[in-house]
Amino acid sequence: MSDSITLSPKHGVNPTMPICFFCGKEKGEIALLGKLPGDAEAPRHMWIPGDYVPCDECQKKFSTGITLMEVDDAPMFDNQPPITGKHYPTGRVVVIKEEAVRRIFTEDTANDIIKHRKAFLDKESMNMIFK
Ligand SMILES: [Zn+2]
Repeated sequence: MSDSITLSPKHGVNPTMPICFFCGKEKGEIALLGKLPGDAEAPRHMWIPGDYVPCDECQKKFSTGITLMEVDDAPMFDNQPPITGKHYPTGRVVVIKEEAVRRIFTEDTANDIIKHRKAFLDKESMNMIFK
């Protein structure tokens, strides 16, 4: 992002209230979108593309354990940016305890996941574990 915004002739700084990707609730922030394509008015609430930073509430939940995030190798909707590489979060997140990670995964994988406090899993693996 550049550090200056182009004002919209019609809507000025064109503010919106960003929502959390994971729970869809307001993050308690204001984003100034400025001039959008077609000089459109910013919606009152929107997910800012690429914003995978959880809201405080989700962050609190994630920090209680190990976060397993389901990802797909294709976007879930038009123009969805990947969270990393070719991983597109589906919005499904499971928070589990370290003991559970050790039960589910092999020792090396479990150690790695616990070190990072999170892991990306494809849909197939997620369904295998949490059916
Ligand atoms: Zn949230």
